[in-house]
Amino acid sequence: MSNQTINVTDEIYRYILDVSLREPPILAELRRRTAAHPRMTMQISPEQGQFMALLVRLSGARRCLEIGVFTGYSSLAVALALPDDGRVVACDVSEEYTRMARDFWSRAGVEDKIQLHLAPALETLDDLLAQGQAGAFDFAFIDADKGNYLAYYERSLELLRPGGLIAVDNTLWSGRLVAPAAGDADSIALDAFNRQLHGDERVDLSLVPIGDGLTLVRKR
Ligand code: CA
Repeated sequence: MSNQTINVTDEIYRYILDVSLREPPILAELRRRTAAHPRMTMQISPEQGQFMALLVRLSGARRCLEIGVFTGYSSLAVALALPDDGRVVACDVSEEYTRMARDFWSRAGVEDKIQLHLAPALETLDDLLAQGQAGAFDFAFIDADKGNYLAYYERSLELLRPGGLIAVDNTLWSGRLVAPAAGDADSIALDAFNRQLHGDERVDLSLVPIGDGLTLVRKR
């Protein structure tokens, strides 16, 4: 028994998957295909995808933002959890990475739910704000270049309705934030991001040690 978060060994991790993972076959196939990708560690873990799908259903989200698509696992997990009229605005800069994403969205029959914007996410988010979309979104997932996390967060917060949820990926960064190495720009940026959120009175907060750390932020 422990009153702090359990240390998830490989054995315990396998047990978690064994007794709780309900991964739709299309997501399992996308995961297998992405496993061959040189940057496959950018994909979220399957139990995290399931957790995010649960959050989407729990919050009754209909309009979602995704910042950082890669090969599309998280956007597909979210889109499958949305009602028929649910929509995801997905931001990425890579035509190459998102090609696989678009293929799988289509095969899963959710391509009409996901609108991909191939442009720097800050431009897309600023466009949405300029179009008067502030407060129009229910859920956002931030999982892109770490140096821009605070900027993505600020814009997402503005685009979210009160009570809306932002999930931010990699907020434990393989444990490297405990003592960020000098010159490690991503670690320094993530640590600064975490500390900024800690004191942010505009939100409720929980850093969940699932995957590589997932910070949940509810707009007050
Ligand atoms: Ca990530």
